[in-house]
Amino acid sequence: MCGEHLQHKDVVVVGAGIAGGSIATVLARHGVSVFVLEQQSAYRDRVRGENMMPWGVVELRRLGLEHVLLDAGAHFATKFAYYSGESGKDEAEADPFDLGKVLPDVPGFLNFGHPAATEALLTAASAAGASVRRGVGGVQISVGSTPEVAYFADGDAQRVRCRMIIGADGRASTVRRQAGIPLHKAKPLHFIAGLLLEDAYEWPDQINGSGTEGEIYCLVFPQGKGRHRLYVCHSNATARRFAGSGGPRKFLDAVRRLRSLPGERFADARIAGPCASYPGDDTWTDRPFTDGVVLIGDAGGHNDPIIGQGLSLAMRDVRIVSDLMLGERQWSTDLFTPYAEERLDRMRRVRFAATMSAVLNCAFGPDGNEVRRRARQRRTEDPQLGLYGQAMVAGPETVPATAFDEKIRQRLLAP
Ligand SMILES: Cc1cc2nc3c(=O)[nH]c(=O)nc-3n(C[C@H](O)[C@H](O)[C@H](O)COP(=O)(O)OP(=O)(O)OC[C@H]3O[C@@H](n4cnc5c(N)ncnc54)[C@H](O)[C@@H]3O)c2cc1C
Repeated sequence: MCGEHLQHKDVVVVGAGIAGGSIATVLARHGVSVFVLEQQSAYRDRVRGENMMPWGVVELRRLGLEHVLLDAGAHFATKFAYYSGESGKDEAEADPFDLGKVLPDVPGFLNFGHPAATEALLTAASAAGASVRRGVGGVQISVGSTPEVAYFADGDAQRVRCRMIIGADGRASTVRRQAGIPLHKAKPLHFIAGLLLEDAYEWPDQINGSGTEGEIYCLVFPQGKGRHRLYVCHSNATARRFAGSGGPRKFLDAVRRLRSLPGERFADARIAGPCASYPGDDTWTDRPFTDGVVLIGDAGGHNDPIIGQGLSLAMRDVRIVSDLMLGERQWSTDLFTPYAEERLDRMRRVRFAATMSAVLNCAFGPDGNEVRRRARQRRTEDPQLGLYGQAMVAGPETVPATAFDEKIRQRLLAP
């Protein structure tokens, strides 16, 4: 091991996923000296985050980052088809939901490959002047008035002293743990597995789709040129259903057997990545900051992926935290209080919506079909009951707080 080096920067960003790469780019573009530490030497398919909601796209634009993802191959899916067991594919595709109607100038959901997107954001951060170290390990932080980050790279021990540490190191955040910021956790309501498929040209590029059949709730996100990200939500009782070396094949077979969501369109598909499973759970922090440290993205708590909010939540975090840091260069601890308050309520809202989605879409068997049919009918009769769902596309703050009330849940699920 060579000698230890000490550097000085304004900010150290630990973790260069979607959140870390974005904030590093934004701050560096505004003249903040930024040091980025990323543990992966090359980004790989970690089965996550490839479908951004329209409200996330608005945040992405406000950050000046939309073109970074479009240049990295992102494309808009303009329609959403819900394949219900009762109606079938023709009905679902005859009248798909027009995603372009939700927010002005946003054509739909932004679909992309996660490794390509994170690579592009890190390249943008570097181009804006951020220093980047990849393949780092052993990150240790010191909090307080002179924050410091120690790490290993290429067998060398290194240290960076800074004015603020941004923890963007994902669900299992070591920054959060070392800073002593408590994490709340809700019980998982289901499991979610994902797989990347190629050479599947039968599924239209413009249509995101989902549907429940048998024992699975399936979601399809086309990325263009025959490539698709598929997720399958299944019950906790079958947590290991797609585990092990045979998992990807079992996953694809289960999808191909679907009839209401047309699984036969994946008959020629080729497995193009690992199959990973995660518990469908929610976590959150009351106060995602302490002296010299602020958490963004999943590090500050994550939403159940069943409703695909994580990327948009990360963009909102980046926008609020970077606005605060660029507006007031002293960076006192209190600076982040408005962020904590907004985030706590935002996470409460998305948690409500994710729970509703899990309860409705992962109710399997004939009883489940009946639960979904009743809820659909009640939403048609009283649109107030569906506002929480609309807010997941247009933005959690766009509807009144009453849309996320326990009374809504009771009215939708009453027998
Ligand atoms: C199965 C699944 C499906 C999902 N689907 C969607 C979806 O369709 N739409 C959506 O919006 N969201 C989705 N999400 C959520 C979304 O992927 C996450 O919210 C988003 O990726 C969070 O980004 P992040 O940058 O905060 O964290 P991460 O993506 O976890 O990135 C953290 C980064 O930090 C690095 N890192 C970690 N520890 C260290 C360390 N100690 N030192 C240095 N670097 C470190 C990691 O290598 C990584 O690059 C899904 C999640 C899952 C699990």
